[in-house]
Amino acid sequence: MRILQSMKIYADNAATTRLSQTALAAMMPCFSETYGNPSSLHSVGQKAAEALYAARAAIAKELNCDAKEIYFTSGGSESDNQALMSGAAWGAKKGKKQIISTAIEHHAVLHTLDKLKKQGFSVTLLPVGEAGLVSAAQVEEAIGPDTCLVSVMTANNEIGTIQPIDEIGAVCKKHGVLFHTDAVQAAGTLPIDVKQSGVDYLSLSAHKFHGPKGTGVLFARKGAMLETLIEGGAQERGKRAGTENLPGIVGMAAALHEACEKREENVAKLLPLRERLIEGLAKIPYSMLNGDRNMRLPGNVNFCFEGVEGESLLLLLDDRGIEASSGSACTSGALDPSHVLLAIGRPHEIAHGSLRLTIAPDITEEEVDYIIASVGEVVAYLRSFSPLWKKTHG
Ligand SMILES: *Cc1c(COP(=O)(O)O)cnc(C)c1O
Repeated sequence: MRILQSMKIYADNAATTRLSQTALAAMMPCFSETYGNPSSLHSVGQKAAEALYAARAAIAKELNCDAKEIYFTSGGSESDNQALMSGAAWGAKKGKKQIISTAIEHHAVLHTLDKLKKQGFSVTLLPVGEAGLVSAAQVEEAIGPDTCLVSVMTANNEIGTIQPIDEIGAVCKKHGVLFHTDAVQAAGTLPIDVKQSGVDYLSLSAHKFHGPKGTGVLFARKGAMLETLIEGGAQERGKRAGTENLPGIVGMAAALHEACEKREENVAKLLPLRERLIEGLAKIPYSMLNGDRNMRLPGNVNFCFEGVEGESLLLLLDDRGIEASSGSACTSGALDPSHVLLAIGRPHEIAHGSLRLTIAPDITEEEVDYIIASVGEVVAYLRSFSPLWKKTHG
């Protein structure tokens, strides 16, 4: 164990990922050579416009859509905001003011829904059960004459559960309701095909698939209403003003291509390592896996450990070189337990003792075993200090 203590294991890939070398190499010329403004008419501007055009076409190809259906944004949060505000605007125009979503969406969706509620929309948040899954039947049952929009994430960022997006898309189409999916966690491990899933809007974020931070995509189907959130110049066909983040966009296109190209190979590497990690951690007494055992992302492991406080667990693991997360990055730092863990029925005190490990394909078996051993030791150590734990389990 001594040698292993100098290990550094990044297991927080649901929070963000390391930029890939391919993406970095693609970005470099955008700073020094293709630095023009794509709206400028001179040569360096036109070179930038060509790079922008190529990136848009490459991303459209990966998602199976038209380049005119791709809108560049500042990331997953902005894409989620714009999709929901757009679907709601369409509803308002039609006099339909019900929106259906789930209790485990990212805050970028949930907080936008809160805003829409204040504007007079009614929001139905579907429960997900202990497995953290919704069904197309649940969605269909909730749809009424007033429904304008359904928003269900492709995969959850905390517990990794994968929702039946194609079936939900079919239900929405059947009832003439717009459908948005936050696919931020899916890129690189799940196939994304906007035609097959029948989505009207889809959100992606580059930094979740080894692209740069601060860049995202909103797919909006041709004909689906699109509201402008940022006013100004005519960039993104008038739907999102501001000089394009060309290095980010070019890096994102390169990262997405690489992620899609290596998807099957990466999933094949991840699955046995995820299984090893889950099986190892499940042996720790009074531990429980969060999220469905099978319908989960190949790199996601999320456990609760009774009698353990999440923040202490994270700090002690960090001392041992293991970088993980408790709940989502947006809620860690706040003391509220994760809304996702509460939604799958974990009591407050147990939700506080959660650990999310999200691994990348470059992790080794030796590193997985080191994580299992370290978590076991740290959990036992923390429990030995808990008077409550000793009283109930000692
Ligand atoms: C990270 C994340 C977002 C937010 O993306 P940003 O690019 O960081 O704004 C939205 N949804 C999900 C599911 C995420 O994991």
